[in-house]
Amino acid sequence: MTEFNLAGRRVWVAGHRGMAGSAITRRLARENCELITATRSELNLLRQADVDAWMADKKIDVIFLAAATVGGILANTVRPAEFLYENLVIETNIIHAAWNTGVKKLLFLASSCIYPRMAEQPMREEALLTGALEPTNEWYAIAKIAGIKLCQAYRRQYGCNYVSVMPTNLYGPGDRYDMEGGHVVAALIMKIHAAKITNSKTVELWGSGMPKREFLFSEDLADACVFVMKNYSDEMFLNVGTGRDITILELAQSIAKVVGWQGTFTFNRSKPDGMPRKLLDVSRLRALGWSASTDFETGMKCAYEWYVANRA
Ligand code: GDP
Repeated sequence: MTEFNLAGRRVWVAGHRGMAGSAITRRLARENCELITATRSELNLLRQADVDAWMADKKIDVIFLAAATVGGILANTVRPAEFLYENLVIETNIIHAAWNTGVKKLLFLASSCIYPRMAEQPMREEALLTGALEPTNEWYAIAKIAGIKLCQAYRRQYGCNYVSVMPTNLYGPGDRYDMEGGHVVAALIMKIHAAKITNSKTVELWGSGMPKREFLFSEDLADACVFVMKNYSDEMFLNVGTGRDITILELAQSIAKVVGWQGTFTFNRSKPDGMPRKLLDVSRLRALGWSASTDFETGMKCAYEWYVANRA
């Protein structure tokens, strides 16, 4: 396949302030394209007419659709309406406006939570819609499944070159450091750093510590997104991960090592475990020529340094 060239093109990263979007923005600096972004006050992604008008005005060629309402296991459970409504509207508005304004290529970022709770591990792309979803994140998952289907539908009916990627759990600079609403890595960096500062000997983990998750460094995800944008143009979405998972307790122990804290973990079993395991089969993307290159400790050090410099 001939490469889809980004050089000289007007490229919009929707959601450039988030962890994934900001990583894509940094990665695009090496592509010689014209980077376009919009802040929340410049463009309200929940309003179709505004999105249409803004995109027509900016003459966008290419979109990385990383804008979304995101959060961890608890945020998904307590704010189901926001997760479903806002994500459906954002992706519908942008994908429809992309078609209306003749965007040449769009990459949609979905999430590995789209797969059924009991999907065979590692999860292949074919597992989509083969079983019931994990209840703690089904609102977000339903919206993301709709986004994937929108890309496929606009490709089938209108010939639009829209592709989707399925990133696993992410960590890196610019994560949401919100103890209640954030994901596990950010929450544990906060808790373990606080324990170190206050000389506390225990840190509480939610659930049993036994669920397994796969963690991908945000800069690796960004590299994968640019790779897919340039080298892939098919209807089937692609998993993006490392191909390796660890338990939440092992994650906590690795973060403790990076932070430089020695202590023990307790388990709050009144909080949910969520999916028992969520490991992606990454063989499709690997066969195309991309695999993750950052080892966990290097990535985690970078995430922790960012937290200390910007949020602690
Ligand atoms: P998930 O991958 O969609 O389940 O989202 P999260 O990243 O929020 O949670 C991953 C796993 O980490 C779940 O089993 C959580 O119960 C567990 N976990 C342990 N401690 C924490 C914590 O302090 N915050 C969060 N968000 N999750 C935690």
